[in-house]
Amino acid sequence: MWPYLPELLAVPVPRYTSYPTAAEFGPAGEDDFLAALDSANGDVSLYVHIPYCHEICWYCGCNTGAANRQQRLASYLEALQAEIVMVGNRLPAGARVRYIAFGGGSPNAIAPIEFVRLVDALTLAFPLVDPVISVELDPRTLTEPWRDVLGHVGVERASLGVQTFDPAIQQAIGRVQPVELIERATDMLRRAGVTSLNFDLMYGLPGQDLERLLSSVEMAARLGADRIALFGLAHIPSMFPRQKKIDGTALPGPRERFKMMQAGYDRLLSHGYDQVGFDHFALPGDPLSRAALSGKLHRNFQGFTDDAAPVVIGMGASAISQFPHGIYQNEKAAGRYRTMIGEGVHPTMHGIARCESDRRRGRVIEQILCHGRAAMDVEVLQCAMPRLQPFLDARLCHVVDGQLILTSDALPYARGIAACFDPYREKSTRKFSSAV
Ligand code: SF4
Repeated sequence: MWPYLPELLAVPVPRYTSYPTAAEFGPAGEDDFLAALDSANGDVSLYVHIPYCHEICWYCGCNTGAANRQQRLASYLEALQAEIVMVGNRLPAGARVRYIAFGGGSPNAIAPIEFVRLVDALTLAFPLVDPVISVELDPRTLTEPWRDVLGHVGVERASLGVQTFDPAIQQAIGRVQPVELIERATDMLRRAGVTSLNFDLMYGLPGQDLERLLSSVEMAARLGADRIALFGLAHIPSMFPRQKKIDGTALPGPRERFKMMQAGYDRLLSHGYDQVGFDHFALPGDPLSRAALSGKLHRNFQGFTDDAAPVVIGMGASAISQFPHGIYQNEKAAGRYRTMIGEGVHPTMHGIARCESDRRRGRVIEQILCHGRAAMDVEVLQCAMPRLQPFLDARLCHVVDGQLILTSDALPYARGIAACFDPYREKSTRKFSSAV
């Protein structure tokens, strides 16, 4: 059993899908992005963002809007195609693309033929080398034509937003999708050739208790998900006004959330899943499990990944691009994004240059979260020490020969320990989700 130490979980911390985090972004522009792009060489991955969904879930913290106006969708896709050409034309000759991820929103909020057109545009604009293609999908809008297109394009990896199989909790979070619908979606994706299928599940949902969480975990394992991401609900209605529809009085408290995380972890391991990072699980043989076991796990804006590319280029409104020396985000509002693309301007709006100190600390944070241990120099360790001391005192980690090693009890505290190496947290008042 993990020790429950609420004082070490009290401060909300980032999920560290990048370092520095998006909270540190300031104004940035086309010149910053293009200078970073010009230095890209070797493996480059692509991320394509579709910020639309047919139905908006109440808990959602993503940048997404309702896909209910055909004209709006069509002009967004036109702009996205233009950005693909703009970036592809500029990419240096030494770059090669081995991973492409489609996310959102829900990529399957667009018509299947539009998805084919996007893949065609990427094929023409970028040097693709037999890329692994992954897609986030909403099972409620996964149709037979979508299955055909995914099979035709050769999508190997897919992620379904499941969250819970419990009908009453589905009502309480504004996402109703009967188990038969998930079964059908799973079957379709397998027939389409998807070999690595992820289910997102959540704990800390309104009205959820241990039994209801575990029954969803059981169902996910029974349906054969290759990967499961088990997240705690981040309920921050001040940041995400749509969450005001959720009854805050029905949410489990911190101790219950902690117990749910532990119970979900135990149950998934008992079903043969391997632990990946602090909140992912994968069946042995899945590329994510192999990456975790071989020390080749990474973390980027898509979460834990086996993708080692040092450059990820994000395209679409709000998409984030990561380079060794900088992180840049496109304009978030789809309307302004379209206008900038229409004017022939790359839509970079925010970002941060990564100095040498950022890169050093970023490596430490990534290693802590991916591998539960990190080598570091004396300066980085000393700087972290005042905030790290309580975790050392609680025997959640120790330092041996300049290496920080987390103990087996430290999993729920991993983000908190990583945050000790993030000096931006000392002055930032930005709100994050709770550590568990
Ligand atoms: S389907 Fe996913 S992205 Fe769309 S509203 Fe629901 S949670 Fe958000």
